[in-house]
Amino acid sequence: MYLKHSLSDDLVRYKGLCFSYKTTQKSSLRYRVVVGIGGNIGDVKRRFMHLFYYLKKQKQVELLQTSSLLQNPPFGFLEQDDFFNGLLVLQTSKQPRHFLDYLHRVEKKFARKRSFANAPRSLDLDIIFFDNRVINTPRLQIPHKEWSKRQSVVIPLMDLV
Ligand code: ADP
Ligand code: MG
Repeated sequence: MYLKHSLSDDLVRYKGLCFSYKTTQKSSLRYRVVVGIGGNIGDVKRRFMHLFYYLKKQKQVELLQTSSLLQNPPFGFLEQDDFFNGLLVLQTSKQPRHFLDYLHRVEKKFARKRSFANAPRSLDLDIIFFDNRVINTPRLQIPHKEWSKRQSVVIPLMDLV
């Protein structure tokens, strides 16, 4: 289902039908958002495929493009499995805070349980960019504070350009 390609000792790229994907369809929704997806519990690549088809059906967002997936080692709390990460390009008419609430509902649907920082997770959805907005509130920072420091964002970003 996925084509596997080793990028280095500890980085592996996976390409499949849903990752990397691009539609030529135009969206009528207002804002363009880059969302980071991540997970390291269970069959993450399979869960991401379900997420892809789930988002494709949703009226509130239009999924325009995806990166390939990157398998990469955990950071912070090291006693856990490798992460899989990727990026989605979505169009939405929701404002950033409401879009964040929406992402939390999707995480819940895919059985995310919050425990501690950098803990293992089934699905993490982060807003990386939201149009050209800059937001700095306690609840929401856009662009994502860590985006340029994370391999899990910077490498998949290359697939989107
Ligand atoms: P992680 O930092 O590992 O992604 P969580 O997903 O539990 O951890 O997110 C913790 C909090 O980070 C969220 O409740 C949210 O309010 C906040 N947050 C701040 N900026 C962002 C962003 N750009 N995207 C997603 N969440 C954000
Ligand atoms: Mg998050």
